[in-house]
Amino acid sequence: MENMFNFADELGPSKIIHIYEPAVGLKGILVVDNIAMGPSIGGLRIAPDVSVNECFRLARAMTLKNAAAGLPHGGGKMVVYGDPNMPLQQKQLIVRAAAASLRNQEAYIFGPDMGTNEECMAWVRDENGRSVGLPRELGGIPLDEIGATAWGLMHASNVALNYLDFKLPGSRVVIQGFGSVGKHSAKFLRDQGALIVAVNDSRGTIYNKEGLDIEALFELKLAGKSVIDFSGGESLEQDAIIDIDCEIWIPAARPDVINEQNVERLTTKLIVQGANIPITEGAEKQLFERGILCVPDFIANAGGVICGAMEYKGSTQQVVMTTIAEKISTNTKAVLEISTLENIQPREAAIKMATERIKKAMSMRRWSLFSSAPHFI
Ligand code: NAD
Repeated sequence: MENMFNFADELGPSKIIHIYEPAVGLKGILVVDNIAMGPSIGGLRIAPDVSVNECFRLARAMTLKNAAAGLPHGGGKMVVYGDPNMPLQQKQLIVRAAAASLRNQEAYIFGPDMGTNEECMAWVRDENGRSVGLPRELGGIPLDEIGATAWGLMHASNVALNYLDFKLPGSRVVIQGFGSVGKHSAKFLRDQGALIVAVNDSRGTIYNKEGLDIEALFELKLAGKSVIDFSGGESLEQDAIIDIDCEIWIPAARPDVINEQNVERLTTKLIVQGANIPITEGAEKQLFERGILCVPDFIANAGGVICGAMEYKGSTQQVVMTTIAEKISTNTKAVLEISTLENIQPREAAIKMATERIKKAMSMRRWSLFSSAPHFI
């Protein structure tokens, strides 16, 4: 039996709840981490094998991301055990049961994550009224369709360039992963004059030193094909994406893809982290020592959660895009300034900045986390 207080530190978590409903085969865990800034927002993940520890780490990542983005929200995460590809009817029962059983847990607002989508968020809203990432018909802003996270990455890249010796027009960009984050990043950066020389997906890498045709790649993916089915480039192994010389490298696929075993192979000047935790701690330290600038994930990829938080308050797409640009630019600048001034890694600077904000919010509470105000956790 894990002792839940093993996770307790100066920030949280404030609650860990296990839920069980045998009638529909529901087993789940909710971690509500720090909520000094307001009710937590975090994804509902359906997965066969997430430990309480992992759920806590994901909730903490959301605490830092939401605080760094200056949102009036804390961090939380929910995991429901099961196959993410289970039949839709079964998924609906389980998601509805999870949402209903947590109806009174006002400290947690559900968001989409691995195994859940807009439709699932509509079921949650129907059960307890608290979800973001809704379908357009329910007032949602489809963050993947509009490229909310990639829009933020593009602005983070622009700010980071002030600390480097090259300009975006004509620079070579390599992107790992060509899903929602990867493909929109390719488009936004190409529109600003960058050359997207290589992208990959789970089947392989496509490379063209003159720059790839992004619209053609969008069409291929829409048709359910892989980027390696594109004839306008040289197709390479999936892993070759790490070896391609470039000025900007963007991870937009899986966690831990760059680690101590392969980090030496990267030849780039700037890494803007689209995926969550794409680089291990040790590898990121080595990059810092080699002078390769990394904009950390929870600063660069906050566009999605900013969109969700604003949707919750009834905002519009246009206002959301302007806010993402403004927030991510300001935060990237603040983090890179602290990092330069104190000669510390940007991630360390980002954690420091977010933690200071959280502690300030905690100091304004009667207790450090809880508020007794109605409708305000
Ligand atoms: P997605 O499922 O739309 O796309 C993932 C892409 O990665 C696909 O093209 C897939 O083929 C590819 N892929 C999978 N395994 C790969 C591998 N080993 N090597 C290369 N490519 C691989 O996902 P997404 O929404 O674009 O998210 C990508 C990453 O960004 C995830 O880590 C996610 O947690 C993170 N993220 C996403 C958002 C968002 O708004 N969608 C926000 C913050 C963080």
